[in-house]
Amino acid sequence: ATPMSIMTATGRGAQAGVLIKDAEALERFAKVDTLIVDKTGTLTEGRPVLTDVVAAEGFDENEVLALAAGLERASEHPLAEAIVEGAKSRGVKLAEASDFDAVTGKGVKGTVTGKAVSLGNAMMMQEAGIDDAALTGRADALRTDGKTAMFVAVGGRLAGIVAVADPVKQTTAEAIEALHRSGLKIIMATGDNERTARAVAAKLGIDDIRADILPEGKKTLIDELRAAGARIAMAGDGVNDAPALAAADVGIAMGTGADVAVESAGITLVKGDLNGIVRARTLSQGTIRNIK
Ligand code: ADP
Ligand code: MG
Repeated sequence: ATPMSIMTATGRGAQAGVLIKDAEALERFAKVDTLIVDKTGTLTEGRPVLTDVVAAEGFDENEVLALAAGLERASEHPLAEAIVEGAKSRGVKLAEASDFDAVTGKGVKGTVTGKAVSLGNAMMMQEAGIDDAALTGRADALRTDGKTAMFVAVGGRLAGIVAVADPVKQTTAEAIEALHRSGLKIIMATGDNERTARAVAAKLGIDDIRADILPEGKKTLIDELRAAGARIAMAGDGVNDAPALAAADVGIAMGTGADVAVESAGITLVKGDLNGIVRARTLSQGTIRNIK
């Protein structure tokens, strides 16, 4: 493309809140055939809110929430914030944690009021040697509603569930529809579980989902698809997404997300509005057409 046509396109993009890093990102985006999107913080607001607390036999809800929130006070995950805020707004006093460990893609564990507490998904329970069968049905029902349900275990016993909801951004549905119409194949990739992912994807007309993906898994997925000949754009917001953003033909970061995601991307959507992807696509294809 001519330097002039590239300057025009990047200038138009910037006006619309779509920051294009360089000519290569612009040119490569015109040839992309597949878009991989992260769920949390990309399709959704990324500001989950506590919705449900379930107690297992022999525990009560406030106890479950106090232990979970006490542990999550030490975590910076958006899920942790939702649990801590939810406890505060319900007037539940946070239990005191003396020890804390985050297990990437699975959850958190530590010592709360002298007891071993683990909190997270089924993989987290498996790792802690906890049988979650008594509450699997309850967890699945919450997930079918599009919520993220996390198990809480105390002193080696399953104690309950805390669940959060993270609404889809207002602009996501129309953007996904326009991107589908433009002929892009869209795949949702998420660390969240299959049921929750499927519930959110169904609302958006996304039929290809890869759930329960560990952070390095998004990059692996991109490497595999590229090796099979696909041209990939990846949209994400998190620290976890940075390797995948860098591995894609074009990385697209939410400006509302982590700095490292923005640094790894060729395109940044300042307000995290996915309609910016539609805009970037039009600009990139217009630039390519100009040079033919
Ligand atoms: P995502 O890709 O959706 O941002 P992550 O890879 O960060 O997800 O986490 C995957 C799953 O691990 C979460 O859906 C949750 O079940 C569990 N998990 C991760 N961090 C935490 C945490 N701080 N507290 C509870 N559960 C967590
Ligand atoms: Mg995310």
